[in-house]
Amino acid sequence: MTQLRKITIARGDGIGPEIMDATLKILEHAGAKIDPEFIDIGEKVYLAGNSSGIPDEAWESLRRTKIFFKGPITTPQGGGYKSLNVTIRKTLGLYANVRPNVSYAPFVETKHPNMNIVIIRENEEDLYAGIEHQQTPEVVQCLKLITRPGSEKIVRYAFEYARKNNRKKVTCFTKDNIMKLTDGLFHKVFKEVAKEYPEIETEHWIIDIGMAKIADTPQDFDVVVMPNLYGDIASDVAAQVTGSVGLAGSANIGDQVAMFEAIHGSAPDIAGKGIANPSGLIHGAIMMLVHIGQPEVAARIHNAWLKTLEDGIHTGDISKGGKSVGTMEFAEAVIERLGQNPSTYKPVAYKHAEPNESATFQLSPAVKDRPKLDVVRQLDGVDVFLFNNELTPDEIGQKLEALAGPHFKLAVITNRGVKVYPQGFPETFTTDHWRCRFEFINTESATNKEIIDLLNRIQEADLDFIKIENLYKFNGERGYSLGQGQ
Ligand code: NAD
Repeated sequence: MTQLRKITIARGDGIGPEIMDATLKILEHAGAKIDPEFIDIGEKVYLAGNSSGIPDEAWESLRRTKIFFKGPITTPQGGGYKSLNVTIRKTLGLYANVRPNVSYAPFVETKHPNMNIVIIRENEEDLYAGIEHQQTPEVVQCLKLITRPGSEKIVRYAFEYARKNNRKKVTCFTKDNIMKLTDGLFHKVFKEVAKEYPEIETEHWIIDIGMAKIADTPQDFDVVVMPNLYGDIASDVAAQVTGSVGLAGSANIGDQVAMFEAIHGSAPDIAGKGIANPSGLIHGAIMMLVHIGQPEVAARIHNAWLKTLEDGIHTGDISKGGKSVGTMEFAEAVIERLGQNPSTYKPVAYKHAEPNESATFQLSPAVKDRPKLDVVRQLDGVDVFLFNNELTPDEIGQKLEALAGPHFKLAVITNRGVKVYPQGFPETFTTDHWRCRFEFINTESATNKEIIDLLNRIQEADLDFIKIENLYKFNGERGYSLGQGQ
């Protein structure tokens, strides 16, 4: 007999408690062997003065049980509250966000009756590093961090997922025509890892046309892997075009801990009315049951849920004839059908997997043991960012030319990435934030010492630098982008 598996549960905010109670009732009747520990996180905790939204005892429970079943959480607007979802994903290393999106025609109205996509979103990096600065009165920045191990982990996860689930194709979305280094690295790793899975078809689309295709011809996609922000957007688009954002569940997988939830938020507009669709959270629960080694219970619930839809029973967010019911009534309809199979939809069966098997797969040595990469790094120069709202580009250029020597030459000045010196165009719009690129004349003897001396000369010339960025070649390849027009 399967032992009770301890799991941590947060009922969540807004519609969270309603859909969680409905889902837990289904789990209980379906015979899920779980032993829940309830924690309080979210809005109440934020408003009590804890800006992370997660008290210490919640972390203790999560680290003890390693399985988290979570209702949606409200992040209060403003006030410096950090998103608790992002904090949990990053703190517990939940690097893979798995979001299946399936259409349920003819019982759920959708323009795309044959869609069955799994979006695999990188969950820790990219613009979600949360490193933002205001640098000048007019300019703010957000750092987009893409790493080789992070990209390799998620891409490999996508291929392993495809292999285990008998999927035929893995598509990658990036914007590497513009972000040649960051998205370029993700795409490069995708091509490298793909070679190890010759039986799986692969393709790559630039994110803008890729997203348009997901909205228009989603049946052409199978597994789709992408960096964090694109994945966030693409998975909501994909869920919505299946018929309702209330249908899809999501798994956040790490090497040690995993978190399961619905993809939607706390829907404050309908909270407390008892009308929310619990299906997204039910799908989160089904993924959790497979993950903790209870595939038969997962299949029982999934098949009863499909039969409920077939019988014309659904919540109000789904536009289709039949009977529109409230959250708990819908759950009771699922419970009544436990043990039954759908007749129009194909019944679901899940293979038995060892607990956590879905999270453990062979990483390459570069990710697993993280040896130092064998890379020759060559200092080429430095970008010095200045705040200036008085001098013209030519005046800044002339001042910097005069202090560049003996080790540097001033290569270019850009404003918002566009060349303004030497020989900029008067039509170019400029702000108060100037990137001044100095290149070493002799890179063989280049060190940080010359950069510090240069900064001292800039300081003495009454120019206000706000940050620097060193320019390197790695194994002879330029590790920085050229300015537009450089
Ligand atoms: P939302 O997903 O909560 O709601 C968007 C729209 O979809 C609303 O009209 C809502 O009524 C509807 N909807 C969502 N889930 C539904 C369901 N199960 N049944 C029927 N209709 C449903 O998105 P939002 O309004 O942008 O965000 C509300 C709050 O949720 C914010 O505080 C946001 O930060 C938070 N949020 C949390 C999570 C999470 O916890 N994982 C995810 C997204 C947003």
